[in-house]
Amino acid sequence: MFAMFIILTGLFAVGLSLVSDKDPNDALKTLYEGNVRFVKGQNIQINLDSKRRKDTTVGGQQPFATVLSCSDSRVPVEHIFNVGIGDIFNIKVAGNILGMDQQASIEYSVDHLGTPILVILGHTNCGAVMAAVTEADVEGALPYLLDKIKPAFCRVKERNPGYSPEEIIPTVIEENIWYTIEDLFRKSDIVKNRVKQGILGVVGGLYNIETGAVAWLGAHPKQEELIK
Ligand SMILES: [Zn+2]
Repeated sequence: MFAMFIILTGLFAVGLSLVSDKDPNDALKTLYEGNVRFVKGQNIQINLDSKRRKDTTVGGQQPFATVLSCSDSRVPVEHIFNVGIGDIFNIKVAGNILGMDQQASIEYSVDHLGTPILVILGHTNCGAVMAAVTEADVEGALPYLLDKIKPAFCRVKERNPGYSPEEIIPTVIEENIWYTIEDLFRKSDIVKNRVKQGILGVVGGLYNIETGAVAWLGAHPKQEELIK
């Protein structure tokens, strides 16, 4: 048990020191390692004490990652990456779509706070994607939100004629992650320029709400083309 504690503390120490270098790969490694601890039930208490609150009040925030994820209550971002206060600039919206507000929040985080990694995090059993795929009858502002998921749905539909909604939902969830990344590169010169300079990494992740594991999808397969 003690040995395990040393190993985990060591990992975290490496994570912290590397993260301060603002390297996209090191930031990703810290998220990866935190998720491994979460899945194994080996979470460690990180940055959740009064000292951390005081330090981040006095010194301001210096998060090492930006995460755009779904608002779903089963996707508690700091928990699934086993991090604490001031670690993640967290943007949540149903269906992890990109509207103007999400774009602005991402731009603030990567440009003003200098976070080196941006994760677009979708998840299994996403109700927003399910509603878009089943073309649910929705009211209020919900049609606007579901419209943002439709491009991903249409792409998957085209590739799967004669589909049944249940069959294609997992594929649409993944396509929706890629579409959000594409949409961001199309709209945000700030993000594009930082990726070109190698000071920001943008990756997709798919969180499994049952196992707790994040499947890392990596950079968009057409990133080079998209950031031109
Ligand atoms: Zn969702």
